[in-house]
Amino acid sequence: MSSIKKSLSSAAPATEMNLVDSEVKNNVLEVRNLESAYGPVMALRGVSLEVPEGKVVTILGANGAGKTTLMKTISGVINPRKGAVWFHGERIDGTEPDRLVKKGLSHVPEGREVFPFLNVAENLAMGAYTRRDKSEIQCDVEMIYEYFPILKDRRTQAAGTMSGGQQQMLAIGRGLMSRPSLMLLDEPSLGLSPLLVQEIFAIIRRLNKEQGVTILLVEQNARVALAAADYGYVLETGRIVMAGSADKLMHSDDIKEFYLGQTKDNTAEATRWKRKKTWR
Ligand code: ATP
Repeated sequence: MSSIKKSLSSAAPATEMNLVDSEVKNNVLEVRNLESAYGPVMALRGVSLEVPEGKVVTILGANGAGKTTLMKTISGVINPRKGAVWFHGERIDGTEPDRLVKKGLSHVPEGREVFPFLNVAENLAMGAYTRRDKSEIQCDVEMIYEYFPILKDRRTQAAGTMSGGQQQMLAIGRGLMSRPSLMLLDEPSLGLSPLLVQEIFAIIRRLNKEQGVTILLVEQNARVALAAADYGYVLETGRIVMAGSADKLMHSDDIKEFYLGQTKDNTAEATRWKRKKTWR
């Protein structure tokens, strides 16, 4: 496995970051020079990143930056054109998604995609399709109901008739049913009220701390994502342009300016890189 490690110690543009191989980190996931395309449309242009065990790592980026493509490439839905992905030290790029679920990699896609005509309990059962340990499966359903009590209340309700927030909770719950060591969460805040977003992110953080699930989280909502994450990357038109601890990213002028709207320097001296940013 590649021993090249990307330093996450400072919020610097990716091109200026030191690549160090000294510190031995236990990475659940390593992505190296990943390129993916839709026909002639290059969506990922050489993405490298790492996800240390037990951490929450977020990928921030505007519409069309390539976040969903990155998640789909990691989870085997899209085959990369170039590059490599390692999961617990094993090369997995090009592996079928169902085999990756068995290995402990769970992908909760953008837009939730629950089974609308199945009820809550049936959706959760579908998440355990790779498992045969019936009594353990039932324990996990109960555990999920503890994190998301509303799902217990609605366990016989068809998923398609539930609110967006409840469907998001169900999608996360279903993703947990395969007992993943790594969860990929694609825009869990999408279309939800600020209050619900806070609630879901608090639960995501608890799942990370209490269940030990490592999380790779894609978000446009930088504020909530950085508040929940340990580390972050910024993806722009298929390239990583910044990386660092969540705290340092939160305090970086570029993030403040292009996401938080706290303009420190809004004069003509802004760099070309800054001018083309499209943070909301
Ligand atoms: P969003 O937040 O809007 O979902 P994103 O950061 O997830 O955006 P992607 O959906 O990964 O971005 O898209 C990356 C690029 O690939 C964009 O230019 C997009 O138009 C293009 N793209 C995505 N899906 C397809 C597709 N099925 N066919 C062709 N181009 C696509």
